[in-house]
Amino acid sequence: IQWFPGHMAKARRQVTEKLKLVDIIFELVDARIPYSSRNPMIDDIIQHKPRLVLLNKADMADKAVTKEWVRYFEAKGVKSLAINSHKGIGMKEIVTASEEVLKEKLDRLKAKGVKPRAIRAMIVGIPNVGKSTLINRLAKKNIAKTGNMPGVTKAQQWIKVGKELELLDTPGILWPKFEDQEVGLKLALTGAIKDTLLNLHDISIYGLRFLEKEYPERLKERYNLDAIHEEVVETFDEIGKRRGCLMGGGEVDYDKVSELIVREMRSEQFGSLSLERPADLLLKEQEETVE
Ligand code: GDP
Repeated sequence: IQWFPGHMAKARRQVTEKLKLVDIIFELVDARIPYSSRNPMIDDIIQHKPRLVLLNKADMADKAVTKEWVRYFEAKGVKSLAINSHKGIGMKEIVTASEEVLKEKLDRLKAKGVKPRAIRAMIVGIPNVGKSTLINRLAKKNIAKTGNMPGVTKAQQWIKVGKELELLDTPGILWPKFEDQEVGLKLALTGAIKDTLLNLHDISIYGLRFLEKEYPERLKERYNLDAIHEEVVETFDEIGKRRGCLMGGGEVDYDKVSELIVREMRSEQFGSLSLERPADLLLKEQEETVE
């Protein structure tokens, strides 16, 4: 998707309209980049609607770092949960966590003697975080799409997830952050945006530097490197030679090396990776305050 101001306004409007239909928003993000894969205006768009942040693709992220993120959101008073929509891990917990988020409201109803109806929820997130996968997962496991509900916009379909939850069958699709170059590189490295939008060399250099800093042993092992070199070009040369990314004349083909690194980072050849930590974000927030 190419986002223009008109698309953004429309996307925002669509989410805003559906907000009225639900009790809770499931904000889906990529567990490897929980900051970079959030919509920049999400707080403004969903206002005070209760929310549950779902750190999806947790299978691809560093477990210890994902725990840090859960604590980070908790400190902000936002409940979050690590899930894997692909394999259906964490699906039951979504229901439990939703009840937890809405506990006060549900308790109030119970105190009044009202039997609460199923919790109504809607998934919101930027492209590629796994919204459709999660909807399909919840739909398949728990069967029976309900028909249209009386009093609700005709076209809305609800998916019953057990007795406790009803999910809108279409997610809210919002745009990613554009203004920050580093965010773009991370989105590209996780496959959330197409390479063509950014320079492949920039993406691979960013990825390589990240591996050098955070996971040097995995990098050395994967490419059989003698050492982590001072200059990126030396590492490119070594990888190119080891992996036969060469041009006709035998010189290293940097395009091929770039492609290789990006492809292998995306396909988990370096194991589970988290590309950002809450600590990076706190640092960023501090810098912004100083400016
Ligand atoms: P959407 O654009 O947000 O609806 O994203 P999709 O549901 O189309 O998912 C984008 C890609 O991520 C697909 O290739 C999915 O198979 C993959 N995906 C979704 N959830 C998970 C997950 O939990 N783990 C892994 N490894 N891949 C996932």
